[in-house]
Amino acid sequence: MTVLDSIVIGAGQAGLSASYHLQRLGIRHVVLDADTEPGGAWRHRWDALTMRDVHGVAELPGDVPPPRDGRRANVVVPASFAAYERAHGLPVVRPVRVDHVVDDGGILLTRSGLREWRSRTVVNATGTWTHPFIPHYPGMETFLGEQLHTVDYPGPEHFIGKRVLVVGGGASAVQFLGALAPITDTLWVTRREPVWRTDEFTPEAGAAAVALVEERVSKGLPPQSVVSVTGLMLRPQEREAERLGAYAARRPMFQRIEPDRVRWADGAFERIDVILWATGFRPAIGHLAPLHLRSAAGGIRLDRNGRGTTAVVDPRVQLVGYGPSASTIGANRAGRSAAKGVQRMLSAHLVERAIIAER
Ligand code: FAD
Repeated sequence: MTVLDSIVIGAGQAGLSASYHLQRLGIRHVVLDADTEPGGAWRHRWDALTMRDVHGVAELPGDVPPPRDGRRANVVVPASFAAYERAHGLPVVRPVRVDHVVDDGGILLTRSGLREWRSRTVVNATGTWTHPFIPHYPGMETFLGEQLHTVDYPGPEHFIGKRVLVVGGGASAVQFLGALAPITDTLWVTRREPVWRTDEFTPEAGAAAVALVEERVSKGLPPQSVVSVTGLMLRPQEREAERLGAYAARRPMFQRIEPDRVRWADGAFERIDVILWATGFRPAIGHLAPLHLRSAAGGIRLDRNGRGTTAVVDPRVQLVGYGPSASTIGANRAGRSAAKGVQRMLSAHLVERAIIAER
């Protein structure tokens, strides 16, 4: 079976950026993507999310920025990814959900059901969307109302006439409250007191936030989302919810869940119909488990003190869209860095083979 130079797993922003740079370096590869059509996680965002609502989607390398208008993000971004794949002739194969990647005598074997691909390197670009995180609270299985995660968000109309508890202190929770508080009854709980940004979100502030995540990754800790360290901001779309007091009424986490309510440690309770878990995501990297990349601290250490994309314990593996590069702009940069990492690995391999041949 052919041994490819590289396999990119995932065709979101990070995977397409990596493929673009691999192609420029003349590196033979395929991109395996679990979705049936282009767009990465953007295909699955809720219909009410418009290009005006998103925080800013960076253009793919060599492309133009997607328009910031009132059209649906889950249509505009996938269409631009599809055009990009076509324009650059990127070798995307879909739908292929990778089950695992194993080491087979120095070659990496990427498996999906009965199909398999062999390669010298792997660039992992599987994002987080397919790995939603919901914390466990006692009694949650007894709740008779509805429990939804960000990935299930059906749009604001679904919640009219229902009392909605939004859980989580990130950008998604802020957006959901912004959309829901003006049309229905909402409550907000977060683990920590929310940190609001009042200053302009400058590139320097962004870099400082990314540096915090890099530090975690350099220590092999599980990465936090970049947004979780940038602080929260209210946009014009959220001013009405603010005026109604939706954010000021934030409360700490409850202690347990009962069939029709949540209860705090002091016995206080609130009746609710829906729990909307805006509690984030974890990296979707279960398929890499056979390679034992995780440190004892639970994360994957990356080179250059967390600023690089190469897995320290196995430099054949690049991680893009992971930790500090989990934003569209970060994913772009990471794609370039990963392609260079792959090139370095392939050169090292050639040198090794030449030495063996000489002996
Ligand atoms: P994804 O877009 O998730 O792509 C991963 C791809 O991998 C998918 O196509 C998936 O099908 C595929 N895949 C997953 N598992 C496998 C597998 N086992 N085998 C094969 N394929 C697999 N960032 C911004 O910069 N600006 C924003 O405005 C913004 N808004 C956001 C809003 C929300 C609600 C969320 C959750 C995130 C947002 N982000 C934003 C973060 C942003 O989505 C990501 O940084 C970026 O789009 C992720 O790109 P990615 O390529 O890493 O992952």
